[in-house]
Amino acid sequence: MNGTATIDNYIGGWRPPASGRRVPSLNPARRSETVGLVPDSDRTDLDAAVAAAEAARRSWRKLAGSQRGALLFKAADLLESRMDEIGRAMTREMGKTIGEAKGETARGAAILRYYAGEGMRPIGDVIPSTDAEALMYTTRVPLGVVGVISPWNFPVAIPLWKIAPALIYGNTVVWKPAIETAVTAALVMECFHDAGFPAGTVNMVVGDGAAIGQGIAEHPGIHGVTFTGSNAVGKRVGQIALARGAKYQLEMGGKNPIVVAADADLDLAVDATISGGLRSTGQKCTATSRVIVVREVYETFKEKLLAKIKTLTVGDGLDAETWLGPCASEKQYETVIGYIRKGREEGAELLVGGERPSHPSLADGFFVTPAVFDRVTTGMTIAREEIFGPVLALMEAGDLKEAIELANDTEFGLSASLYTRDLANALAFAQEMEAGLIRINAETAGVELQAPFGGMKGSSSHSREQGQAAIEFYTAVKTVFVKP
Ligand code: NAD
Repeated sequence: MNGTATIDNYIGGWRPPASGRRVPSLNPARRSETVGLVPDSDRTDLDAAVAAAEAARRSWRKLAGSQRGALLFKAADLLESRMDEIGRAMTREMGKTIGEAKGETARGAAILRYYAGEGMRPIGDVIPSTDAEALMYTTRVPLGVVGVISPWNFPVAIPLWKIAPALIYGNTVVWKPAIETAVTAALVMECFHDAGFPAGTVNMVVGDGAAIGQGIAEHPGIHGVTFTGSNAVGKRVGQIALARGAKYQLEMGGKNPIVVAADADLDLAVDATISGGLRSTGQKCTATSRVIVVREVYETFKEKLLAKIKTLTVGDGLDAETWLGPCASEKQYETVIGYIRKGREEGAELLVGGERPSHPSLADGFFVTPAVFDRVTTGMTIAREEIFGPVLALMEAGDLKEAIELANDTEFGLSASLYTRDLANALAFAQEMEAGLIRINAETAGVELQAPFGGMKGSSSHSREQGQAAIEFYTAVKTVFVKP
């Protein structure tokens, strides 16, 4: 899509926001360009969406899993057939390169297909009773209405890995996408509409976090809340949901380390650092942000890393030559620049990047060249806080044991990567690292959709998303005892 789209909510069908208010969604590569005018909804819209989801849920849960799955398969085909259009909207709204944006859309289709298939799987066990005449078994039932709160950084894949399992297990959905990527969200919603989901099954309310996001956490008609976003907001959402007895699931930030052992293939480790740390302009929860290198190979690794980083092209993500797009918004840009300033003030050495690129065509966007800090120590802010931008912090460790200690010295625990050729190192790392995703000779980002996804420590509420693990959140277990 080109031009400026006018977006509605989807509440049992397309509907303008009750207030009639809309706000602009801007292109971060060219802030003078408005990609869409998107609803600034209020609680009236949210109440209507919850009522629509409530009205739909009894008939939806009665369908066979395969019938629900058939609709997900259709939505997957539609999403795939619109991959170019959706990818383009995503790039224009949040700056991800077009290749990554289309890749994410393809992944969205794969997620829908995966969960479509889950509608045919066993959902319970027969448990031997001590009464030989009785039948005891477990089954799973939907929670009811699920509230989905999603961020802007994966505007297709993240909502889909929540909405698809919610639907296949018989729940209905009220989705609040990030307002920054509401045009992309509306295109996803069109796929659900065109696939023929019954009215009220999936609803979308676009609006501000404090109004609609918090409204979802508080709403007595929402039985489960699944959230992905920042720690500050996530903790609040969790507290509100807990206080009213709703089930909740939180996926939050990361400060993900890559550890480079003395015996690592340094070229592969450099590639993984660059791809894991800087793809999507570093705006991934699983982005590599601390690069912990064992002393023996520190200088060689650093040289190779810098040589490669200098070749990366920054630009408008729609341009096929661009490797790295802009930060997703002015707020994100200011945050990144603030951390770069802080890193310098606290004594880290900025080796490269961290500036606005000089090319005049980029003057109107939120661009930052990829930054590498050297001599970062564990107490510094840039070693402790999630930056969510193209900034790498190099840290030196005496040996692998110290590297693992440094890697664990964080409040987060999402993803952790090790480069080594030694199996004993790999096993020690897998055992010692306090993270939900352990990656040996693989970058911190990039987990397959059929595997459980989530973090430890402050990164997550510890339930898992994706794969079959998702059933734990989206259903409740019933234990049935039948005495004939
Ligand atoms: P954010 O917390 O600002 O927003 C996330 C969502 O919450 C948005 O839809 C937003 O509108 C909503 N929200 C804002 N204020 C709210 C409130 N008071 N109550 C309820 N909802 C509210 O995060 P963001 O800037 O959109 O995304 C970046 C963050 O997301 C990073 O911290 C990143 O690490 C995290 N993230 C985590 C994962 C993961 O799976 N662990 C994946 C992607 C992103």
